[in-house]
Amino acid sequence: MKVAIVHNKEPKTLAVTERLKNLLAQANIKIDDQQPELVISVGGDGTLLAAFHQFSHALNDVRFLGVHTGHLGFYTDWRDYELEELVDSLKTNREQSVSYPLLDVRISYLDDKPDQHFFALNESTIKRSNRTMVADVYIKNELFESFRGDGLALSTPTGSTAYNKSVGGAVIHPSINAFQLAEIASLNNRVFRTLGAPMVIAQDEWVEIRLENTADYLVTIDQLDVSKNNIRAIYYRIAEERIHFASYRHMHFWHRVKDAFIGEV
Ligand code: NAP
Repeated sequence: MKVAIVHNKEPKTLAVTERLKNLLAQANIKIDDQQPELVISVGGDGTLLAAFHQFSHALNDVRFLGVHTGHLGFYTDWRDYELEELVDSLKTNREQSVSYPLLDVRISYLDDKPDQHFFALNESTIKRSNRTMVADVYIKNELFESFRGDGLALSTPTGSTAYNKSVGGAVIHPSINAFQLAEIASLNNRVFRTLGAPMVIAQDEWVEIRLENTADYLVTIDQLDVSKNNIRAIYYRIAEERIHFASYRHMHFWHRVKDAFIGEV
């Protein structure tokens, strides 16, 4: 098995990464940062997001695994003190794979610039800096609403516990193959009207956001800022590709949610 390691720069993470590399070498498991079969991220959920974007061109060939060096994460199953057990499972190849939905994002421009295409693991947001964002929201080519406000967030089920949750979106179990559209500070009065509630969009549906003004936009894909000007529309749907995780043990999703947000009851 060929393994790549992606890590953050925290001192604790650097020490854990060094220990992991030694254990992998002792087990004759090769490090290959170019064409790995398994990508191990060491850090937090943010580090796993960075690892995903580094290898998002090879989603059918690569599985991911997260070791967390801080608190329990949503993409990180292993704790830093379990490295021996982790490498042992790699040696004996005992793992199963679990996969989660991704958001397919296509940005189309007014000028001749070709469309840009991305996968988001958590979410994509569209925001406007200090002006009201004005956009028409189409679902399956039908105008649904005219949005005015700070912006919109479109998230995957695994991303539903991240930014989406902060803007009032629902937490969605990752076995549900759907994505979510949540409003960010929408302007609602007698003239402007939006649904005012998060929406869960089905697998065979797509959302198109047509921006009225074309300048000053900030489009994010997870932690990446991708574009600002001359955007005509952005298209969102559930991707055919999925992210595959090497799963050596099952962790109950709602247990993770409780652990992250509620704690002991
Ligand atoms: P960051 O701003 O340094 O950290 C964002 C926080 O979100 C970290 O604590 C991270 O966990 C956590 N996180 C990431 N993915 C998550 C998930 N799926 N469920 C629950 N928590 C999650 O940025 P980053 O580490 O590069 O991560 C980028 C993500 O941050 C974006 O995709 C967005 O979802 C989120 N974000 C949230 C807000 C907000 O809630 N207001 C604002 C900006 C960005 P770790 O500590 O384990 O890395």
